[in-house]
Amino acid sequence: MQTCDCIEPLWHDEVLVQYQYLSDMIIAFAYFFITLELIYFATRSQISSFARVLLLFGAFILLCGASHFINLWTVSSHSINIAKLMAVTKLSAAIVSCVTALMLVQIIPDLLSLKRHEVILKHKAEELDSEKCLIIREEEFAQHVRMLTRDIRGTLDKRTILETTLTELGRILDLAECALWMPSHRTQSMELTHSLNRLLRFGYCVPIHVPIVTEVFNSAEAIRIPHTSPLARIRYDVRTDYPPEVVAVRIPIPHNLNFEFYGGHELNTKCYPILVLILPLNGLRRWHRHELELVEVAADQLAVALSHAEILEDSMRASNQLMEQNLALESARQEAEMGIQARTEFTTVMYNEMMTPMHAVIILSSLLQETELTPDQRLLMETIQKNCNLLSILIDDVLDLSRLNDGSLELDTHVFSVHDMFVECMNLINSIASAKKLSMNLNLEKDLPVNAIGDSKCLMHVLLHIVGNAVKFTKEGQISVEASIATPEYLEFCRSHGFSPMPSDRYFYLLVQVKDSGQGITSEDLLRVFTKYSDQRASPHDGGHPGLGLAICKRFVKLMGGHIWIRSEGLGKGTTVTFIVRLGVCESPMEETVQRGHWE
Ligand code: ADP
Repeated sequence: MQTCDCIEPLWHDEVLVQYQYLSDMIIAFAYFFITLELIYFATRSQISSFARVLLLFGAFILLCGASHFINLWTVSSHSINIAKLMAVTKLSAAIVSCVTALMLVQIIPDLLSLKRHEVILKHKAEELDSEKCLIIREEEFAQHVRMLTRDIRGTLDKRTILETTLTELGRILDLAECALWMPSHRTQSMELTHSLNRLLRFGYCVPIHVPIVTEVFNSAEAIRIPHTSPLARIRYDVRTDYPPEVVAVRIPIPHNLNFEFYGGHELNTKCYPILVLILPLNGLRRWHRHELELVEVAADQLAVALSHAEILEDSMRASNQLMEQNLALESARQEAEMGIQARTEFTTVMYNEMMTPMHAVIILSSLLQETELTPDQRLLMETIQKNCNLLSILIDDVLDLSRLNDGSLELDTHVFSVHDMFVECMNLINSIASAKKLSMNLNLEKDLPVNAIGDSKCLMHVLLHIVGNAVKFTKEGQISVEASIATPEYLEFCRSHGFSPMPSDRYFYLLVQVKDSGQGITSEDLLRVFTKYSDQRASPHDGGHPGLGLAICKRFVKLMGGHIWIRSEGLGKGTTVTFIVRLGVCESPMEETVQRGHWE
């Protein structure tokens, strides 16, 4: 509170006035400076209510400053105007200070809660810090896992996999010992096969049914086991060392893998290899959760790597076996080829050796027939000649069959007259048919080309045999032979019956159908006629063409790019044999030829 002596000055101590003057000036200066600071921070404040209070407070301080400033004039005698200005300033300061006091009532709780928030934030920051540490530790863990996985999976050799795992685990976890126990079928016990620092005794076995072993087998996680357990009984100096913490984990190798480990150990269905990890012997370290997780991951990775190695070994074994089999097959194939070649050579030699005397007999007997003979002698000579002819056909067939079997029979393609071939066939068979009083019809469709490119001898063989069979198995009635070009519809029909023709401009498919009114074939026999040689060999009396069975016909037809079918309604209802063969289109000009014929 300031004393005003503007009306009647009571004292005139110059030093006191000087002090008041100086103090007011400093206070005014400080107040103005505070105001500037408040304005600066109010404009920068994010919280609008705080900014308002700061501005009010600034105004209040400014007015206080102003009153001190005005005091500089009021210490000595001053005018009424100065007194008025002083009154207004003080009144304004009073109002503003009241408003500020009211505003502070609202703001102070906020300020206090801000403090609370600050404490909470501090906690949060600490939590974040610990989470950050966790993340860093997890990253380290992940890196260790990656390194471990890379090292374990880096090879497919089981021994190297095991050794790498033990070494890397020992290095990363700074272990005193890391050892591997393998189950042995033979001894029904766990045998120590690998030890990193050889603190465990080799050659020492732990029975499979010991409770601690069963406990490890039954746990999917790494578990702490006592240092006195038989799996972890290490040698250490009791005077200087402390009992260390020990952890054991099973290696979950799938049981369907018929695993055979290095050292010849086998697994049965309930056993696993066990990894035992021992911390340093100073007893200071304890296992942490993330270290146990690392051990579990390592055990899993080890199982995967060992399984892969086993599969690779299996496949290598299989591939070696396959190679051996291939070699054996190749040598068998070569032997078979040599055998076939030897047989072909033998057949060819035999054919020549047999045909030469046969031809001599045929020629000599026909010469003899031209001489004067008694009727009995002529009959005997005719019989000899017939049998010789049949024998020569048989020898021909045997050679064909042998060539068909070894695949050396190749088609002898040339231009030939299709029409002439049919007529010739009918003429040949007719003598036998007329002896049996059978009528024979030939019907060549108009579109059938006169000439074509193909193996006429082969085609004639098939035709002769099928027409010969028709005559052979027919006692009365007729035999009809029809030939035409197979229509696209017919070729489509063939596709649904297991034969896939390949139409082209350069080829056409000759369709031949031989129908007879003979004895027919039962449905059971129909299934067999093409698969085996008939036991019912034809006799010369039947007039058939013995030796060349339907099985051989089928192979000939196949060789000519075609197919053959046989159909019969049953016994006594006749038979129809149909075959198609692929012939080359011949560009030679058409000739006038027979298209229909009848033979009695
Ligand atoms: P084969 O030399 O005996 O004629 P095939 O292999 O030609 O031998 O014929 C096998 C069998 O198919 C014959 O024994 C016969 O039972 C039957 N067969 C073939 N063609 C006919 C046909 N046109 N009529 C009746 N049966 C036939």
